[in-house]
Amino acid sequence: MVKVNPQVRRVMHSPTLRIHEHVGKLRGQGRDVVHFGFGESPFPVPPSVVAELRKHAGDSRYLPSQGLMALRERAASYLKRRFGHDADSARVVVGPGSKELIFDALFALRGDLILPAPSWVSYGPQGQMLGKRVIWTRPDPEGGYRMTAGAFGEACRRSRTTQKVLILNSPCNPTGAVYSAGELKRIARVARRYNVVIVSDEIYAEITFGRARYRSIAAFCPERTLVTNGLSKGFCAGGHRLGILLVPKRMQALTDHLVCIASETFSCVAAPIQQAAVPALSDRKDVRAHVRDTVAIHRMAGHFLWRECERIGLRCPRPEGAFYLFPDFSPFAKALRRRGIRTDEALCEDLLGRAYVALLPGSGFGVPAAHLAARLATVDYDGAAVLKAFRRRRPGTARETHRFVQRHCPNLPEGIRRLERYLSDLA
Ligand code: PLP
Repeated sequence: MVKVNPQVRRVMHSPTLRIHEHVGKLRGQGRDVVHFGFGESPFPVPPSVVAELRKHAGDSRYLPSQGLMALRERAASYLKRRFGHDADSARVVVGPGSKELIFDALFALRGDLILPAPSWVSYGPQGQMLGKRVIWTRPDPEGGYRMTAGAFGEACRRSRTTQKVLILNSPCNPTGAVYSAGELKRIARVARRYNVVIVSDEIYAEITFGRARYRSIAAFCPERTLVTNGLSKGFCAGGHRLGILLVPKRMQALTDHLVCIASETFSCVAAPIQQAAVPALSDRKDVRAHVRDTVAIHRMAGHFLWRECERIGLRCPRPEGAFYLFPDFSPFAKALRRRGIRTDEALCEDLLGRAYVALLPGSGFGVPAAHLAARLATVDYDGAAVLKAFRRRRPGTARETHRFVQRHCPNLPEGIRRLERYLSDLA
């Protein structure tokens, strides 16, 4: 019998994977499932990025492990221009998705891993695979599940390592929360006090719904913040597998370690993909318009579903970015208990089995199962068709927006109808 590293074996039992598998099976049987579990940009890649990819399809070179110089330069100026980062191409590392770069950063950095509860599903398993102790902050449903400086400090005090690592994700998957300057300032103060290195996962930074400029934790503690970003969300190119990581000036030496890890593992990102990323990160009018329009649609879908979730009685923080909601079904806890449902996992299985609506259990994101929280992805629609319709006639008023979503994203109201029926059948 093959002996598998126990750190790896533990990681394979993800409740979220079970739901995905279950959806696949149901759809294979011809069932019409509303898939609120799937978190991928539904939109086409910007045409100029596709054109550049075609142009470079024959480029089969191994590129430098740190990344193509032209791309690192564009990435640095993009991070400066869009988000005000103190960026320099010498401190940018290009990798096959920001997920891999986050893993490499965790590998390179010593110390316990602190995660806000809830956090994206992959951080915890990455920490476990690396043999790190993972410390979750106390979840705060009353505060919209945002991590407070107090909860962060309390988690730091539970750690026994002198250096610690925090992954902060704003806009947040799964809640859609965008941290304000005030919140970030307070978190930064705690990070300094307890010697915490921050990995700021900014993969959704393009997708924010408010008028205020996006603020990064790096603005408040630049000396201890690594930033990750990439093409997957705002630029609609998840499958291209292109991520970027920025090392802070004060940690310049870490860049070499990260490049060593890259050179001994993935070697480099495919050359055509790196070439195609250059126009994406340049300030091109067509790409900016593509990002702007797709973000407007994410906003409409997110706010539509949020309002509808509240209307049918779920408790749900208002999304400020990304393409997720994090409703909790605790107002229906008593009725669910009568049906024998006490955990988020049992709830998601029941919802899928009875209502054919797929959600991911909140426990996969680090929230106790008894909270009955679930992640709802707002992207179950045909992105290309919706983008076309949006450009033909942009909805102006709230009423037009509501009608637009109902007409062009039919699975969203359909999913809500099914949830509403499910909840009323509980009574
Ligand atoms: N971080 C968060 C919060 C995500 O939701 C995702 C993808 O779902 C990633 C990182 C990974 O992105 P990438 O495609 O750049 O690896």
